Amino acid sequence: MSRRDELLAYANTVKGFMPRDEGLALYEHALAQGERVPAGTWLEIGAWCGKSAIYLGAAGEASSSVLYSLDHHHGSEENQAGWTHFDPALVDSADGRLNTLPTWQRSIARAHLESTVVGLVGQSVVVAKHFNQPLDLLFIDGGHGRDAAWADYEAWTPKVAPAGLLLIHDVFDDPAEGGRPPFEIYQAARGSGHFIDVAQEGSLRVLRRV
Ligand code: SAH
Ligand code: MG
Repeated sequence: MSRRDELLAYANTVKGFMPRDEGLALYEHALAQGERVPAGTWLEIGAWCGKSAIYLGAAGEASSSVLYSLDHHHGSEENQAGWTHFDPALVDSADGRLNTLPTWQRSIARAHLESTVVGLVGQSVVVAKHFNQPLDLLFIDGGHGRDAAWADYEAWTPKVAPAGLLLIHDVFDDPAEGGRPPFEIYQAARGSGHFIDVAQEGSLRVLRRV
């Protein structure tokens, strides 16, 4: 099995919220970006257990790029006990809090992607304030509430380099299919004059900085 096939097969087994066709699209667009700009700096907001980081990391490794995978690792609202996406296996028995960091670390280690995928543990906006490296690729898949999504949009999209790729997850045209904030920030990016549409796959939107 090629390294590519091995990583793409492994990604499919990792816990998370990335449908297969969207994960493969993530990989393909990141790979093309890595061919345009080798050794790029990439960042994803929303690491969870490492699923999207492996799709992106597979492309990153092929282009000598590095992916920063950012998360506070305590889950979003909908991941907490009593909500739709709660997984009791991810609760830390020491303090009763959700903690996806150990699972994320194991995923990246098993994929042998530790030279390509680097974890950033903290709140998105706190990290953004002290992060000045231009991004060749930004994937937004963090908090989906109004405040969190807009804060990510405002803090991180200005860091996307010219011709850099902006990917946004969980964008639903039909409000019946999912929450509005990811759709709203997608519309804001298109309306800003700084980004143009490149592609879409399921709820994944791909834009490029002009
Ligand atoms: N990309 C992942 C899914 C991410 S789920 C996959 O492929 O499976 C959304 C993640 O965003 C959760 O892990 C949550 O902890 C994180 N998150 C939510 N708000 C955040 C914030 N303000 N700062 C950092 N991480 C945040
Ligand atoms: Mg998502």
